[in-house]
Amino acid sequence: MLTLNKFYIDGTWVEPMGTESMPIMNPATASEIGTVALGNTTDVDLAVAAAKRAFESFSMTSRAERLELLENLRNETKARLPDLAKAMTAEMGAPSTMSLEVQAYSGLGHLEDFIAAMRSLEDEETLANGDIISREPIGVCGLITPWNWPINQIALKVVPALAVGATCVLKPSEHTPISAQIYAEIVHAAGYPAGVFNLVQGDGATVGAAMSRHPDIDMMSFTGSTRAGTLVSQDAASTIKRVTLELGGKSPNLVFADADLERSVPSSVANCFYNTGQSCNAPTRLLVERSCYEDVLKLAKSAAESQKVDDPSKPGDHIGPVFDEIQYNRVQAMIQTGLDEGARLLVGGLGKPEGLENGWFVKPTIFCDVDHDMRISREEIFGPVLVITPFDTEEDAIRMANDTDYGLAAYIQSRDEARVARVARRLRSGTIQINGRGPDYGSPFGGYKQSGNGREGGTFGLEDYLEIKVRPPFTV
Ligand code: NAD
Repeated sequence: MLTLNKFYIDGTWVEPMGTESMPIMNPATASEIGTVALGNTTDVDLAVAAAKRAFESFSMTSRAERLELLENLRNETKARLPDLAKAMTAEMGAPSTMSLEVQAYSGLGHLEDFIAAMRSLEDEETLANGDIISREPIGVCGLITPWNWPINQIALKVVPALAVGATCVLKPSEHTPISAQIYAEIVHAAGYPAGVFNLVQGDGATVGAAMSRHPDIDMMSFTGSTRAGTLVSQDAASTIKRVTLELGGKSPNLVFADADLERSVPSSVANCFYNTGQSCNAPTRLLVERSCYEDVLKLAKSAAESQKVDDPSKPGDHIGPVFDEIQYNRVQAMIQTGLDEGARLLVGGLGKPEGLENGWFVKPTIFCDVDHDMRISREEIFGPVLVITPFDTEEDAIRMANDTDYGLAAYIQSRDEARVARVARRLRSGTIQINGRGPDYGSPFGGYKQSGNGREGGTFGLEDYLEIKVRPPFTV
């Protein structure tokens, strides 16, 4: 049993002030694998005070000094990739191959692109009117991350903060504390000065809210549900701090009859089920041109039937369980809702796959003939559940795609380049993926509408952590 009972504050591992703890669960076995201490508001105060002190000198470091630290961070991250992967497999059920090659690797992939972005970022710039703009670190940053892509989200926030000379307090999801603790060890080993990076474990209502309200935190970067994002914004309002939000999605995937269906339908289904459907940008609504609807259903059904579900500790390309009992029950309830709403179950359904009754495993499920107004078409399910809806015209498809509170990602399958360009322009979402290809590391990631604001990754991802200062040219 693992006992995580220290926080990383001011360059050292300290006893928490909070006295509560909670179990860490393995979703593949539904068993307890350890406990994590939960912080309180005093822990937040101590971490923020350390970050504020450290900001005085860290904000004055040169870009060259910070690039050297980022290189150290790269080496230390590389060395701990297997540990990060093992932790995420245990605490949230990412299958071991994907956990290493994608979940853990993302910590390195984002870092490499932030290093490249830092090399090309101009500290100062002269405007056409002769005035001089300088970019400066914003101050102390409060970083809150979810459990579904633990290291991906931590790297997307911690690395840009440290890259520009800001300091930070990280509160990872209380459900994935092990990978976060390893990440703190990585930052420590990279040689960052005391107080520049701090880790406080804990829940959202106590530690998260204390951070959002804290007068000495200058900006909050939050990734998680729209519900919690709203609370972060409300809590941050009285101190006028900057808030960036990466929230949920219900991303449409538009399949036109001129697409390479044999290729794009199976990959669209696999993409929806990837990470057991627990990705904010998963293409969970397949909108299909009616003239190819029956062909798509056949291809989608066979893709779902061949989707392997298995123990995440085994290597391979299967999917694992959803991450906890609450999430399992939520997914089951949404499948029941789909049945009650009268959608046609194409494959999967209620219950656990045969032979996987111990953990929180879900049958890969597809509903077809789904009416656009059904709840299963409108609400984020966050499990391996795809809904399919037919459309008659391009206009129809765009209307349904955009008729959602979310706007994180949209997907287009078509061989007609002019159509892809035309449709992409009209879709209200931060990312467009085309024929199975999405943007790479270093590109901005973020949402329109209630999927959030701000962008993460590469040059755009540095900007959230920078203030802009202007001064005239020197005269006497
Ligand atoms: P969640 O909102 O329950 O928790 C996310 C984080 O917020 C956790 O660290 C949690 O402790 C904290 N939190 C909860 N209440 C809080 C409060 N009142 N104040 C401050 N912090 C609080 O979300 P989750 O279940 O961990 O993650 C799944 C959600 O995250 C999904 O909706 C998914 O779409 C979204 N997500 C979005 C992105 C993106 O980049 N847009 C990426 C990954 C996940």
